[in-house]
Amino acid sequence: MLKKLLSSLLVVAFAVCFCGCDLKRPQSDESEKDSRKYLALDTVIDITIYGEHDDVFDTMEEALDDYEARLSVTEETSEIAMLNKSGGEYKKVSTDIYNIINSAKRVHDMTDGAFDISVYPLVKAWGFTTDEYKIPDMEEIERLKRNVNSNNIMLDPDTLSVRLMTGMQIDLGGIAKGYISSKMISSMEKSGVESAIVSLGGNVQVLGTKPDGSAWRVGIQHPDYSDCYIGVLSLINEAAITSGGYQRYFVQDGKTYHHIIDPATGAPAETDIVSVTVVTDKPIDGDGLSTAFFVMGTEKTLKFLDENPEYKAVILTKNYDLLVSKELKNSFEVSDIMSDANIVYF
Ligand code: ADP
Ligand code: MG
Repeated sequence: MLKKLLSSLLVVAFAVCFCGCDLKRPQSDESEKDSRKYLALDTVIDITIYGEHDDVFDTMEEALDDYEARLSVTEETSEIAMLNKSGGEYKKVSTDIYNIINSAKRVHDMTDGAFDISVYPLVKAWGFTTDEYKIPDMEEIERLKRNVNSNNIMLDPDTLSVRLMTGMQIDLGGIAKGYISSKMISSMEKSGVESAIVSLGGNVQVLGTKPDGSAWRVGIQHPDYSDCYIGVLSLINEAAITSGGYQRYFVQDGKTYHHIIDPATGAPAETDIVSVTVVTDKPIDGDGLSTAFFVMGTEKTLKFLDENPEYKAVILTKNYDLLVSKELKNSFEVSDIMSDANIVYF
């Protein structure tokens, strides 16, 4: 736990400097804005709001505690833990949890199963929930894989009930942060906030522009150097969501095993992608998609993006190709550190 906390704090340090905050902060802005940091949802959460909005921060903090209590897979009393113990019965859930599961099923369909919240028993078997990492044997992987299929999650919209097939367990960690950031931003907007940025680990969402009318500048972390970024996105009313194998992993016998599992193999995804950032005004889908793209690899991801132009992406591959949606050409500034990369606009 302490290890997890420390690694989260390292992420904080990074987030403060390069992730999601204004990289060229003019001095005059300082008095007008307020930032708070929270440790929740197994990550560091950073919120910056322009204007006097103390009450909004309080509301955000309460909302985060509430989401955490409902989503935690380890907290016995959470809605997810209750579902995971429900043994094939329909269980009523809150609207938020229902909506997140519904979105997760949609992203599962869109990505031919690369995104699958029912991969959770495998995430657990590899030790990613406890940091007690291990390589499960093939027999265990095959046994657990049999219950992985989000098509077997039944939803009843009339009663807001969810039924998991017996033996199935889910974890919303790959999509919940996108949902929460979008809820936080719309709640702020309702409270009269016009300019804000929310960063939940690799999920960054911005509201409006900065007060001077300029775009928010959001750095994408360099996978190898936590104090550098591969480039900076200019965002207005959009989200940028990053997934990568460098975020949580262990090394055994010289091989690296990361926390994104390919539902087809039951093992960490063998992918040619190092880091993938989805840029979209649909943060919920964007969160699920960034995880899915990592599993799908470059070829399938580029085909998906070609067919679904409402999502844009920045992809860093193992070959040091930096693949950038052509629509981002004017809003993504590549860092000098990437001068050896092969930059392709697709
Ligand atoms: P993070 O939440 O670590 O920033 P992601 O959004 O990519 O990054 O989600 C990774 C988390 O999602 C993992 O920790 C695990 O709980 C879960 N997960 C792993 N593989 C998959 C998958 N193929 N589909 C859905 N969820 C996954
Ligand atoms: Mg995700």
